[in-house]
Amino acid sequence: MSNVLIIGAGGVGRVVVHKCAQNSSTFQKITLASRTLSKCKLYQQEVKNRYNIDIDIHKVNADDVDDLVSLINEVKPDIVLNIALPYQDLTIMEACLKTGVHYLDTANYEHPDSAKFEYKEQWAYHNRYKEKGIMALLGSGFDPGVTNVFCAYAQKHYFDEIHTIDILDCNGGDHGYPFATNFNPEINLREVSANGRYWENGKWIETKPMEIKMVWDYPQIGPKDSYLLYHEEMESLVKHIKGLKRIRFFMTFSQSYLTHMKCLENVGMLGIKEIEHNGCKIIPIQFLQTLLPDPSTLGERTKGKTNIGIVATGTKDGEEKTIYIYNICDHQETYKETLSQAVSYTTGVPAMIGAKMIVEKKWQACGVYNMEQFDPDPFMEALNKQGLPWFVEQL
Ligand code: NDP
Repeated sequence: MSNVLIIGAGGVGRVVVHKCAQNSSTFQKITLASRTLSKCKLYQQEVKNRYNIDIDIHKVNADDVDDLVSLINEVKPDIVLNIALPYQDLTIMEACLKTGVHYLDTANYEHPDSAKFEYKEQWAYHNRYKEKGIMALLGSGFDPGVTNVFCAYAQKHYFDEIHTIDILDCNGGDHGYPFATNFNPEINLREVSANGRYWENGKWIETKPMEIKMVWDYPQIGPKDSYLLYHEEMESLVKHIKGLKRIRFFMTFSQSYLTHMKCLENVGMLGIKEIEHNGCKIIPIQFLQTLLPDPSTLGERTKGKTNIGIVATGTKDGEEKTIYIYNICDHQETYKETLSQAVSYTTGVPAMIGAKMIVEKKWQACGVYNMEQFDPDPFMEALNKQGLPWFVEQL
């Protein structure tokens, strides 16, 4: 019974559009807006062909609050889903505040000029959203997103107190290219090449990129080298999971990926500052993105599975216990369903479910919130129904 405006027609945007169309009893009117109208047109046609649903499309500059406000006033959505880039979080949040519309995103704000992300500027909107009577749901992808909900679910059903959490993200898929990223290359490479960080006994501990490695045996994939990275959901989880003593995030990378990335970094191709080239100003990492495969085109050629989950340790009724909650997703299956690889799928499905929680009033609050602050049960139930079933194992 709602009207949804999706901003961003990239790899993840495609999945969000397909999943909203599959849930047309919840999302009766769908509008997709992005910088490049031809991508919106492509997804509009896919949705017409697959589900016989008409969606509206618009061109928008999501860096411009006035442009966003006029689009929102024209579309009159109940909720805006920010599926563009983290650079646009604050302008879209501002436009939602001005127009009194709920907001959701999948990645926290990052300034283009510094490869650092934190929730501070988005959390600063809390009182203004509360006074306006609207909600912002931050980080409704897989990680952040489902991993936060897994933690809340573990806390609610398995523990009196959680002491440690390891978030474990494995992409066991292969797209056949020597080097490509599974989501926006610029955002991905900024994240992966940065220093690592984890939280222990109330303090953040910084590590060099890829300094800490462990091998984890991922169900249905097998043992994989997993490297410690900083990841944004840790910032909110340390606030909201009471009694936590340590939280870390690990992601798998192949040796080939790491060698390519190191080489590109060594020659300056990951630079985020403008340089002069033949009389033109370019930003090296953006030029590299132009050369790399567009993640939204990887779907057809990617084979294998992803496995993302959390391992939590703690106590229940005085006993120590360890719980592993995870999802396995198959690249070829997600391609069949939404013409997208599993990294876009595992991000886009939770974005749609987060929106569903808000418009169906299963998650209701005014202000700015992270995923673990709500009852995990309806979200976990929706994951099972919407293509991301999960498993719980006691280790
Ligand atoms: P893409 O680069 O494929 O898509 C981004 C889209 O946003 C593109 O269509 C782009 O337009 C559009 N866009 C960019 N800037 C603007 C602007 N100023 N105005 C309007 N539209 C704009 O990225 P992905 O789909 O791979 O990723 C989308 C988001 O999902 C990112 O924020 C990423 O960090 C997040 N993500 C979250 C994950 C999670 O688990 N939480 C995991 C993976 C990704 P154009 O087509 O013109 O380039």
